[in-house]
Amino acid sequence: MINLAQKTINNSISCNSIGLHTGCNVNMTLKPAEIDSGIIFKRIDLPDSQNIIKAEFKNVTTTNLGTTIANEFGASVSTVEHLMAAIWGCGIDNLIIEIDNIEVPIMDGSSEPFVFLIECAGIHHQTVNRKIIEILENIRVEDNDKFIEANPANDFILDISVDFNHPLITQKNLNYHSTSHSFKNDICRARTFCFKNEIETMHKMGLAKGGSLDNAIVVDIDKILNNEKLRYPDEFIRHKTLDFIGDLFLAGHFIVGHFRANKVGHTLNNKFLHYLFNNPQKWRLV
Ligand SMILES: [Zn+2]
Repeated sequence: MINLAQKTINNSISCNSIGLHTGCNVNMTLKPAEIDSGIIFKRIDLPDSQNIIKAEFKNVTTTNLGTTIANEFGASVSTVEHLMAAIWGCGIDNLIIEIDNIEVPIMDGSSEPFVFLIECAGIHHQTVNRKIIEILENIRVEDNDKFIEANPANDFILDISVDFNHPLITQKNLNYHSTSHSFKNDICRARTFCFKNEIETMHKMGLAKGGSLDNAIVVDIDKILNNEKLRYPDEFIRHKTLDFIGDLFLAGHFIVGHFRANKVGHTLNNKFLHYLFNNPQKWRLV
């Protein structure tokens, strides 16, 4: 991940699915992008002059059960985190994501279909090296017992903790080290999940309209309702890690540092990036 050439994809590639929260049908096409362009969403159902949304933390507008980004014209894309995690996992710096609706397709609720798409498109090494964010000093943001803390390190290291009081969620900690773990093998297949007793509330809030057992694990009192078994015994914390990686990539660059995070969610993930960029002495771009 460190000191490498910037990367994009070789060929355009498309997919189609529904949005998890909106239930809308979405067509999405990934396209190669120029050096230093970053990750760019383009709402092709909107006028050309107003439809570009950069995948950056400053553009995050909502963090309620997913991360939404928007531009100054109000064009938005929601539930970007699983796609962003896949782009991170494939080491892609520059990409155009054309989309014809307001939410990224949910696919199977994990990042695996997006990793598959990117691999099918092929990865193209560009002629300029990437810049990475290096953490220089301890940084900590918290919200009651939730926190994210970052310290200097030579690699990308995560220690993620969750605190769900449920008999099926027994694994409460996960360590991810970019040199010894693989996003593709260890993280990308973890699906999003919800508890059965939350579904009615989500529907009343107008959320999860596209949710089903095909794109989310539904956890009941003592079992999961899906026919497909868990893909990892600790799929839940792996998905939380996937979400964290996807949200963190809204920094606009790959980051090197050691992160410890407890009970993370989209809101705190975004607060962390705002705090980081408001404290320029704590990091540098190299
Ligand atoms: Zn998620």
